Amino acid sequence: MSKKSSKPRNWKPATLAIHGLGRLPKAHHSVSTPIVQTSNFYFDTADEVEDFMRAKGQGKVIREHEYARYGNPTQAETERKLAAIEGAERAVLYSSGMAAVLLVIMTYMKPGGHIIFTGDCYRQTRDFATNFLGKFGIGYSIVDPTAEAIEKAIKPETNIIFTESPTNPYLRVLDIPAIVKVARKRKILTIIDATLATPYNIRPIELGVDIVVHSATKYLGGHNDLMAGVALGSDALMNDLYKMQRMIGATPGPLTCFLLERGLKTFGMRMEQHNKAGLAVARMLEAHPKIEKVWYPALESHEDHKIATQQMKGFGSVISFLVKGGNAETRKFIDALELFLITPSLGGSESLITQMWAMSFFDYSEEYRKNIGMVDNLVRLALGLEDVEDLIADLKQALDRI
Ligand code: PLP
Repeated sequence: MSKKSSKPRNWKPATLAIHGLGRLPKAHHSVSTPIVQTSNFYFDTADEVEDFMRAKGQGKVIREHEYARYGNPTQAETERKLAAIEGAERAVLYSSGMAAVLLVIMTYMKPGGHIIFTGDCYRQTRDFATNFLGKFGIGYSIVDPTAEAIEKAIKPETNIIFTESPTNPYLRVLDIPAIVKVARKRKILTIIDATLATPYNIRPIELGVDIVVHSATKYLGGHNDLMAGVALGSDALMNDLYKMQRMIGATPGPLTCFLLERGLKTFGMRMEQHNKAGLAVARMLEAHPKIEKVWYPALESHEDHKIATQQMKGFGSVISFLVKGGNAETRKFIDALELFLITPSLGGSESLITQMWAMSFFDYSEEYRKNIGMVDNLVRLALGLEDVEDLIADLKQALDRI
């Protein structure tokens, strides 16, 4: 990497998303990053192979690519931009958000160790803890998403604190500096899944978190058309992750990386719009007579409103709420919507809606759902990039049908 590309910059995320930390030479002077669709990269001579291997053994890079499981130029350029946006030294891309979550945890988990997770975290992350960690001889606790609950759960063998902020579906916002303080005192690694916030709205690395993870399938990709995940942090930590990643090969293909990098070019504008839409729709819903309750961190009624306003630039476009009535009324409302697609996920151009119990929590027992407040009338919206007035009009006409 040239000096020009790694120089610290005061550029804002929208600029960093387009240029990274500066320009790197590109093949054929192409403005967009080429999709380098290859599984391997050839050497011109036998000597070149030997020089490359010798240099590699000494930790030097004399040419970048060798075999696509270890990295690809389209992927490298996307990682460079993601690291710049996050304010991290380096990024490692994965084939999905869950590949990032699991491989980051697997890189640092150890037999006899203990991992703290925060409740209301992404369902598959929680399932990994409850269904798999025991097999590796690793203990875990799933606690309330607060710094106090995390501190109380720390054991002598705790070596990882894995948090999520905001959480999903209740949009809990964690006091990141308080968690970092507690963790640093005890030399515990902090990892945060900040998918719902993105580096546009929360800056975990600046707040002292060791590793940030995102499902890049969501706001970073931004168009509901790719699957990817990313982990970001210091060179040293990313080097650990990379060693695991190059072995396992859960890497996104070049086309996915191209689409992700292309999505980043509008990251700043899209996040501004998502934030604006989230706020307008949350306010409308909270004032609507057919809505019982709304969860959105910008609302004063949200239990983490104070922390959220201290920590977040904007609040994104995921909103959870209770429709007045039960299952039947909720379904009538959902089916009457014209602009919202019934599907999970978030952060893309199309607005999406899910009735939480029927989609993300269908295969849990009724008792479990009741315990975590997963009632029939709980709905989650993930607003897209349509005109906000049209979204509000659509929601209102559908609520009128109940
Ligand atoms: N983390 C969070 C907070 C998510 O919402 C999701 C997916 O919805 C994931 C991780 C997993 O990401 P992916 O679907 O890209 O594997």
